[in-house]
Amino acid sequence: MSSLYIHIPFCLSKCPYCSFVSYPGMDKLHQRYVAALLLEAQWLHQNASVSPLSTLFLGGGTPTIFSGRELAQLVSCCQELFAFSDQAEISIEANPKTINPEKLSLLRHSGINRLSIGVQSFNDKELQLLGRPHSAEDAAEAVQLARAAGFDNISLDLMYGLPGQDHYSWQQTLEQAISIAPDHLSLYELTVEQGTPYHLQRNQGLLDLPDEENMVIMDQLTATLCRQAGLAQYEISNYARPGYECRHNINYWQNGPYLALGAGAVGCVDGRRRQKTCDPRHYCEQIESGQSVVQEEECLERTASFRETVVMGLRMTCGVSKIQLQQRYEMDLDDYYGDTLIHLVNQGLVEITASHLRLTARGRSFANQVMAELV
Ligand code: SF4
Repeated sequence: MSSLYIHIPFCLSKCPYCSFVSYPGMDKLHQRYVAALLLEAQWLHQNASVSPLSTLFLGGGTPTIFSGRELAQLVSCCQELFAFSDQAEISIEANPKTINPEKLSLLRHSGINRLSIGVQSFNDKELQLLGRPHSAEDAAEAVQLARAAGFDNISLDLMYGLPGQDHYSWQQTLEQAISIAPDHLSLYELTVEQGTPYHLQRNQGLLDLPDEENMVIMDQLTATLCRQAGLAQYEISNYARPGYECRHNINYWQNGPYLALGAGAVGCVDGRRRQKTCDPRHYCEQIESGQSVVQEEECLERTASFRETVVMGLRMTCGVSKIQLQQRYEMDLDDYYGDTLIHLVNQGLVEITASHLRLTARGRSFANQVMAELV
């Protein structure tokens, strides 16, 4: 499976917890950036050979900050340049404040068949603390509009472990989300990243984060409510109705090849990982003058790639396929990890079935620790 990712690094405002490559207030650059993306797509088409693309993902930032026409142009340019497999998954991330019926209809008609809406919370006070530009009502309306525009694969992003949040408000958010029948949920625990305003606030003791007990209850609530709603956990943070798992992200977790376009985007093909320059102005200048936008390049040797495939694969509930590892790397899991793996099995953190290595339910609670041992 091969994928293409397009990064749109612009947002309405900067959320105080965000460490992504995203910039507010660069509206004047938008048109120029789209033109640069189209040029980079042509260059990529001429210089990278990948099998037919199974997925395309427009992420950000806030891709829907662009007009429907600009986004449709990007998608159709990619469809003309690259071969896509039948039934390719084409996703876009959307902020409830940047969509309307006309834009959604244009997106749907352009071939985009999966919408990932950044909701984060259905509690207005929490949304305010998160610096989100939309309300809970805006988010619920966005889902209705998307359904009316013909989207039958809708994912909601929610966050827990938020300032001022307890397990009661997380339950309300989750129940509200489930009541509007999403096909997929991405549920992320807030991480306070260095360099963000939240990091500064936490260091000053101004961030009122939930305690351990509340976090444990939130995890239990998540498992129970999603199971009751028919949303099966297929990755540490992701839940879906059967058949609605995000194929684009599964390709990442399987460490498959992916191309990337745009400022700050990372692509990896044939063991070569390339990160593009993060500054959108610099990105445009480089593309316009025919120069490279690659800021960093890393060549992964076989064993490093093997370990990465194991660790990424463990994120998925099904785990990592032993046969596929053997075929891809001609390396054996047990031989490579030896006592480390035996120790993790004995601790009840991972299990080895006839076909897979995977985290146990207990192991999912200590996923970072397990991965640190295997990476
Ligand atoms: S909308 Fe998303 S990408 Fe943009 S600033 Fe907020 S968290 Fe970051």
